[in-house]
Amino acid sequence: MQVSEGFGEKTASVKNLQGFDGKNPPDPKLIDSCVHCGFCLATCPSYRVIGKEMDSPRGRIYLIDAINEGEIALNTASVQHFDSCLGCLACVTACPSGVQYDKLISATRHQVERNYPRGLADRLVRQLIFSLFPNPDVLRILLVPLLVYQRLGFSKFLRATGLLKNISPRLAAMESILPEITLKSFQDNLPDVIPARGEKRYRVGVILGCVQRLFFSPVNEATVRVLTANGCEVVIPKSQGCCAALPEHQGQTEQAKALARQMIDSFANTGVDYVIINAAGCGHTLKEYGHILADDPEYREKAKEFAAKVRDAQEFLVTVGLTAKLSPLASKTLNLVYQDACHLLHGQKISVQPRQLLQQIPGVKLKEPLDAAICCGSAGVYNMLQPDVAEELGRQKVRNLLNTGADLIASPNPGCSLQIQKHLELQGKDVAIMHPMELLDYSIRGEKLEV
Ligand code: SF4
Ligand code: SF4
Repeated sequence: MQVSEGFGEKTASVKNLQGFDGKNPPDPKLIDSCVHCGFCLATCPSYRVIGKEMDSPRGRIYLIDAINEGEIALNTASVQHFDSCLGCLACVTACPSGVQYDKLISATRHQVERNYPRGLADRLVRQLIFSLFPNPDVLRILLVPLLVYQRLGFSKFLRATGLLKNISPRLAAMESILPEITLKSFQDNLPDVIPARGEKRYRVGVILGCVQRLFFSPVNEATVRVLTANGCEVVIPKSQGCCAALPEHQGQTEQAKALARQMIDSFANTGVDYVIINAAGCGHTLKEYGHILADDPEYREKAKEFAAKVRDAQEFLVTVGLTAKLSPLASKTLNLVYQDACHLLHGQKISVQPRQLLQQIPGVKLKEPLDAAICCGSAGVYNMLQPDVAEELGRQKVRNLLNTGADLIASPNPGCSLQIQKHLELQGKDVAIMHPMELLDYSIRGEKLEV
């Protein structure tokens, strides 16, 4: 395949192209494991929407190879195809040759952020995102002006008029997924240690997440109640910060490492058997700490030990088994559709466990949507950075979820929930979204849902 067109000249005559530096460039062995069969193309959301080879896994691997070989430059023309990747890892699941595209795109993204000078507007938006989202303390300070902004109707006005979209589609995309700020967002009242109910089976740590603790605190509270009801003593170190998912996925090497070290330190000496996380994207990164800190002699081993203890909440509960009694959630059959989050399904290979848990709730009937394995377009901050592709994927995802006729959507990731909520509203549908931990919590407490 000819890949040079539009990217730079082919090599022999061109020297000193800006390419990858010597610090962990994409591994040629991993690149060579791709046999270019194209089986991954149909599963790739960016290829589905954009329709160009260079926005597919195979195309990006060609591109990575060409940059590695010094045949193509790392420039605007080539970087746009890495930026258009959602990092959903559907291609990793689909590939019959076991190509580790996750490792390739991760190495590439860190290279891009080091070696490609982004334009001013791009840099400013990214800077805003990276200084806000991995900092729950900063986000919490912003809650007051955001609450005022929403209560005075500015949000409704901007969404209705599309004014912000004309000024900055990215800022408009950021605004469009802002959830309603409630008084719960200001509370941070989970104790440091919560005893198990009944006989103690495990001592587990719980990670609060950044977006989760501010905008989805009921999910964290539900998770703690479900764990304690099933014999877990829960430990929540308050020094924990961001898990590093966002900077890691976007190639912000030093920020990701610093956050990973802080998280490890927070759980040092807590004596927990497992570290539990209820957000798919965070769980995937937490399990990657050994890789993120592989070059750090002080933290390398600690990172591996920490990662070995990390469990997604649903993965954990299925493994240890529920001991709490479950009650029906409604007086009639409850049709539920479970929305697979990419970083659970493709990143952690967790798809059966959430379904097994939900099906243990009496009266639940599980529906399966079309294209369950295709990303909803949220993908961390992708929907803010690449709003057009994300919009189309969000539309498709919600249409497929609604077509199941389900009464309620179960979503195990805050980013997916925000994206789906936005598109439900845009399509004028009033279908509730809840985290599987909330559904289990309702069921354990014997509370009925209004559906
Ligand atoms: S990544 Fe895998 S599925 Fe895709 S083209 Fe390469 S070998 Fe084929
Ligand atoms: S990670 Fe997702 S968007 Fe990126 S190449 Fe693979 S399937 Fe496509």
